[in-house]
Amino acid sequence: MHDINALKELLQEPKEVMITTHHKPDADALGSSLGLAGYLKKKGHRVTVITPSDYPNFLAWMPGNEDVIVYSDNNDALVQRIINESQVIFCLDFNNLSRINEMGEYIRQAKGTKVLVDHHLQPESFADLNYSNTNAAATAELVYDLIKAMGDGDLIDTNIGECLYAGIMTDTGSFRHPSTSKNVHLIIADLLHIGVNTSNIHRLIYDSSSELRLRFLGYALKDKLVVLPEYHTAYIAITADELKAYDSKTGDTEGLVNFALSIEGIVFAAVIIDRTQAVKMSFRSVGDFSVNEFARQHFNGGGHRNAAGGMSLEPLDAVVAKFESLLPQYKEQLANSVNK
Ligand code: 5GP
Ligand code: MN
Repeated sequence: MHDINALKELLQEPKEVMITTHHKPDADALGSSLGLAGYLKKKGHRVTVITPSDYPNFLAWMPGNEDVIVYSDNNDALVQRIINESQVIFCLDFNNLSRINEMGEYIRQAKGTKVLVDHHLQPESFADLNYSNTNAAATAELVYDLIKAMGDGDLIDTNIGECLYAGIMTDTGSFRHPSTSKNVHLIIADLLHIGVNTSNIHRLIYDSSSELRLRFLGYALKDKLVVLPEYHTAYIAITADELKAYDSKTGDTEGLVNFALSIEGIVFAAVIIDRTQAVKMSFRSVGDFSVNEFARQHFNGGGHRNAAGGMSLEPLDAVVAKFESLLPQYKEQLANSVNK
């Protein structure tokens, strides 16, 4: 759904604009937000980016990062004021206001025009305007397309391009997921053309681990990986104490789930982590098995067919037991996903 004409009209005059994205922003969430912010600033709008929580250090290089406001209890009043005073509120890379914690209610009640730019399945209908496409590989791809559709392709500079590249690169798994379309490659060709240093961005995101993060990965793979060949499933469950022992920082567990999925014959992988306030889960699959449906039905979550997340307020052991107990009912579906 692309309300581009209404968006053009909305943004004709300089406006007070706020951009937000999901809890614990990843490279697509932050990259699409900062890419859009860079563009709208060039168009003369006043733009504030607010994230509902902190995000990994390996994203801090992005142009515009220095102006991001990270919501916390301490700046609640300031954030409420900005939301109330914004004429346009962009919501990027999430489909449900519950994904942005306290800020969700503030935005639901805000007077400004809400614009959703997103590629997740089953979007909640809270926005006034939508620029969403569930086939898009990344929200950053949609932001690129949106800027072009606004007739402003020539405003995409290397700063904007670097942010968008980061989002597309990570959400496509470095251009290997089936979502990596011709459009994606054409966008990347254009970003290379304008001078975006793509290999440097890859290094900044993927080759910036601390020693402890790598040792944690080693520990998780050696001692915590559970492989269930009967269900073509592998998972890793991590306790709060283990996170503490390895001084785990925001983003340190990102990518862990992909190692479980990289085993031959495994089509369903999960990482289940006790984050103290709640147990958070990351799900990945290959083939037809929908982790979006799995997360929605059993763990208050959602996402995409092959990448989704969920949460539970039960203790870690109970969540793991529930996860294992669900597998038999999917046995056939999981077997059918092999070799797809
Ligand atoms: P990740 O496992 O990388 O945190 O998330 C994978 C995908 O699932 C992302 O597209 C993310 O937005 C979505 N996702 C993660 N956690 C949740 C959740 O609790 N609820 C919903 N609806 N989506 C989630
Ligand atoms: Mn995304």
